[in-house]
Amino acid sequence: MAMMKALRKVRAAKGLEIAEVAVPTVGPTDALVRVSAASICGTDLHIYGWDRWSQGRIKPPVTLGHEFCGVVERVGEEVTAVNAGDFVSAEMHVNCGHCHQCRLGEAHICQNLKIIGIDQDGAFAEFVKIPASNIWKLDAAIPERYGAILDPLGNAVHTVLAGPIAGQTVLVTGCGPIGLMAITVAKACGSSTVFASETNAQRRAMALQMGADVAIDPVSEDAVARILRETSGTGVDALLEMSGNPTAIQQGFAALRAGGRASLLGIPTENVQLDLVKDVIFKGATVQGIYGRRMYETWVQMTALLKAGRLNLEPLFGERVALDNFEGAFAMLQKGLAGKILMYPAGMK
Ligand code: NAD
Ligand code: ZN
Repeated sequence: MAMMKALRKVRAAKGLEIAEVAVPTVGPTDALVRVSAASICGTDLHIYGWDRWSQGRIKPPVTLGHEFCGVVERVGEEVTAVNAGDFVSAEMHVNCGHCHQCRLGEAHICQNLKIIGIDQDGAFAEFVKIPASNIWKLDAAIPERYGAILDPLGNAVHTVLAGPIAGQTVLVTGCGPIGLMAITVAKACGSSTVFASETNAQRRAMALQMGADVAIDPVSEDAVARILRETSGTGVDALLEMSGNPTAIQQGFAALRAGGRASLLGIPTENVQLDLVKDVIFKGATVQGIYGRRMYETWVQMTALLKAGRLNLEPLFGERVALDNFEGAFAMLQKGLAGKILMYPAGMK
């Protein structure tokens, strides 16, 4: 049996391990992808740390990794649209195709969603098995490092394009990787002034590099007052909530103009109090929950923006490590590095 290296959650405890496992066998409708580069997501940090959420969700042993790109090694006998040698990424949310939402064309909120790299073996390995229908072929013009972060970039694109954006004033609350990506996407799609609020100074600096017009520290400054002042007392047209922090969410709603839209991607770990009358009803606000990426509208939009060279993602890239050196990469991210760290299962090129 052919074996490969994989970064796995082997036991129900803190940490991850490199293990030798069998190369996945491909079913008739699957593609086997040789992973070129994979990127670490905040979720992987949670699973590494074995927090309450991970304990309830993860069933070890499982190989992590859901942000990646690679080259198709081989495909099952029924696969026609994907070929060996294709440069690809993939939508790692696997929908069932037959539930109510799937039938309505809302596969991203499928009732039976399974996530590759969470519920089944993922891309922190030399090879990953993906249903061919979830494979996203990449244009050779898209650099490998960009190909490895399409999953979070898709979260950002989904959020930004969930409502009007051209000519709009925008507040991005939380400038982690996804908030930072949302800033460049909003700018590329024609938003006017982009305000970014972020408690971490390094991340505020990155927000400006990514194209934010104003970066606000909500700890040392009254963020809502500042935004109202700079929008002639009106507030922003769109709130893109990317922090999951209750205070940021409340400030975001307070800074939203009457008639504006609030698109909420950040995931709070506790209940959040809102004044529904003031924040939503009398405001006539549109509030949206954003989950994953629309299949496959978001992928089409994201690819088009990338191919047109409209997204400057360079400030996001820092460290690159061989998969074997994952500990250093996870430690750096745990310390609060905002960028994306790429891991190379086949070692460094
Ligand atoms: P992240 O944790 O790196 O970023 C969150 C940022 O918010 C951090 O930089 C943090 O300093 C900042 N922040 C915290 N409190 C703040 C405050 N009061 N005001 C302003 N900023 C504040 O996370 P990420 O990887 O960029 O992801 C963003 C969010 O989206 C997370 O909550 C994540 O769980 C969630 N997420 C949701 C989906 C989805 O499908 N809905 C998918 C992926 C991630
Ligand atoms: Zn479904």
